[in-house]
Amino acid sequence: MAHPGDARRDACRRSERRLGVSARNAERRLVLGIETSCDDTCAAVVQSGGVVRSNVVSSQLVHERFGGVVPEVASRHHLELINLVLARALEEGATDLGEVDLVAVTRGPGLIGALLVGLSTAKALAASHMLPLVPVDHLHGHVAANFLALAELEPFDPPFLCLIASGGHTLLADVRERDRFGVLGTTLDDAAGEAFDKGARMLGLGFPGGPALERLAQEGDEHAFELPVPGRRKRPGAGVAREAFARTLDFSFAGIKTALWQRVNALSDDELQARRADLAASYQAAIVEALVLRVRQALEASGIDRLAIGGGVAANGLLRERVSELGATLHVPPRALCTDNAAMIAAAALELPALAYPDYLSIDAFAGAELRAA
Ligand code: ADP
Ligand code: MG
Repeated sequence: MAHPGDARRDACRRSERRLGVSARNAERRLVLGIETSCDDTCAAVVQSGGVVRSNVVSSQLVHERFGGVVPEVASRHHLELINLVLARALEEGATDLGEVDLVAVTRGPGLIGALLVGLSTAKALAASHMLPLVPVDHLHGHVAANFLALAELEPFDPPFLCLIASGGHTLLADVRERDRFGVLGTTLDDAAGEAFDKGARMLGLGFPGGPALERLAQEGDEHAFELPVPGRRKRPGAGVAREAFARTLDFSFAGIKTALWQRVNALSDDELQARRADLAASYQAAIVEALVLRVRQALEASGIDRLAIGGGVAANGLLRERVSELGATLHVPPRALCTDNAAMIAAAALELPALAYPDYLSIDAFAGAELRAA
């Protein structure tokens, strides 16, 4: 009579075998990626070599009316969308679950309820098809977007520095290998995209505010208002904290945001209408200068002359212009791969060890960066 443990052991063996076969036939490896860390429900099919077979993103527009992402609403929408998005990704990738070799999923950082929808879905899919699973750090995903092979863009190989600036993250990464990255700097308070969004709200623009603020800034003068750029050593004798901060490669946007708030409040309604474009241009220039300052310092300190940028803020024209003037070889993935997507999660998974069934069933999502090393 079969022992109750036999089925589980067989399943384990099948999962391990699958992993072994996948490793030997690297050419034919198909990864199903899932990403639900914030407000985009994403699934993608990526082939070894970084070839994107499909990349489906369903952005939750429902948050617009709240002026920001509401975590509980995001989780509920992920639940409603995930199966549809997965089916679309498989269909557009001209494949089915029977052909998939590996499931990749974002484990964190992000909104915990949102992450759990993707992680539970990935575990269920992998377990029911006896597939190995790779849990991926969302920020490693953003780095790995540069490894994807596109018709118009070759993969970008390490070493390079990578600036990731989105609504949830601001990170300067030192990428020496494909399977890991070092953190040179991160934000002490708001993310760069969040600063764009909050500034846009102060100027009466919608959410997400980055693109609207950039459009308005095109009609304004970036020198009209002087806003503080953190990290810029303006004068000798600056405060101790400011001096100490200037020596790091960290970012901070709370001061720029407060400065905009003060300028806006100092104006009458009519004056504000007349100066909105100038405020937008000055605010955008200050955020971009704060980002570029750290990138320049990091390039100089590391001696690396290759730079990639990613995250939603990488769509910003002024940022692209200013980083292109730094003299480094620049790699900017197309916008759909800069913002949250599952193709980048699958790309990271191709570089990482996989967990066999049932080892992945007990892993948890993590909300902040603190567990990244675990
Ligand atoms: P997240 O999912 O963490 O919010 P995304 O990678 O989806 O981040 O990027 C969204 C962020 O990018 C938003 O904060 C948005 O305002 C910002 N953004 C998008 N386009 C631009 C732009 N052209 N200029 C500045 N910021 C932008
Ligand atoms: Mg997003």
